[in-house]
Amino acid sequence: MTLPTLGLVGLGKIARDQHIPAIAATGLFHLAAVVSPDGAATDGVPTFRSQAEMLAALPGLDAVALCTPPAVRHGLAVEALRAGKHALIEKPPAATLSELHDLEAEAEAARRTLFTAWHSRFNPAVEETRRRLADATIRSVAITWKEDVRRWHPGQDWIFATGGFGVFDPGINALSILTDILPAPVFVRSADLHVPANRDTPIAATLAMGAAPGSRIGPVTADFDFLQQGGQTWSIVVETADGRLDLTHGGTRLMVDGVPALAEPDTEYQRIYRHFHRLIDDGASDIDPRPLSLVADACLVGRWHRTVSFDW
Ligand code: NAP
Repeated sequence: MTLPTLGLVGLGKIARDQHIPAIAATGLFHLAAVVSPDGAATDGVPTFRSQAEMLAALPGLDAVALCTPPAVRHGLAVEALRAGKHALIEKPPAATLSELHDLEAEAEAARRTLFTAWHSRFNPAVEETRRRLADATIRSVAITWKEDVRRWHPGQDWIFATGGFGVFDPGINALSILTDILPAPVFVRSADLHVPANRDTPIAATLAMGAAPGSRIGPVTADFDFLQQGGQTWSIVVETADGRLDLTHGGTRLMVDGVPALAEPDTEYQRIYRHFHRLIDDGASDIDPRPLSLVADACLVGRWHRTVSFDW
């Protein structure tokens, strides 16, 4: 059987840490090329300086995986879809909501698969939490997503530049889980966004969210911090009428009333490539703008604060 061919665009941290190993482990795609503006390469795979160069050289390529920072994603995705390629796009799927809506239309017009890969959702513990919350009365949800940007994103200046999302780069992962596990939508009521004096995007943010009147969902809070020293926290605590759920370690572990219920090794990206392959087979797309909408809404209703300069 001939495998569909895939070009990986953007050979940075996530491409090397997760995409390349997951493509190899799942064996569903043949990694035919990588695109890397600085000419960085990976063993045995042809490298191109731009996606346009790759598309011209490999007209038979079936799909692309866009692993660049989000600011350039819209242009690259349009280019790939118009060239007839299926596209898997890393989170956040675009720099703005308008860009994402445009990509949906482009995918439809091109009759190609577009997959906005919210990787944190691809954990069995997230699935189990969604199942447990389907009929629950949810008294409160508290998101705590605190990590050290110097440890996880060393030197990635794009994160603090316009279109880079700042602390929402990891924070949007929590919002992707939130929108997946809750049985009804929540809305940002207020937010505080702290932007270093020498940067464009927030380094810390708190959000207060709530559901529509009459829903079974109480207040939802999110506390995002990029300057966390020591222990790192990626957790969502849900208090329900029947007990407490702790979804921790970025969505990979679940405790029910303090008792471990599920802890699986991180195979998010293998699940992502299986899902992408299935979508292509089915002639379908999977596009979910909700996490990006919450970030955009936080920026619309949020209070902006200047804070001390940030340097690596
Ligand atoms: P990164 O290490 O900075 O890598 C980004 C790569 O994209 C760089 O190699 C960069 O090349 C390349 N690039 C930039 N513009 C390009 C273009 N027009 N065409 C082709 N390549 C281009 O960033 P990252 O951490 O991998 O993050 C990339 C995306 O993955 C982000 O959206 C992030 O949110 C998401 N993600 C990251 C992680 C993580 O743990 N880091 C986890 C999950 C998802 P140059 O350096 O040559 O410019």
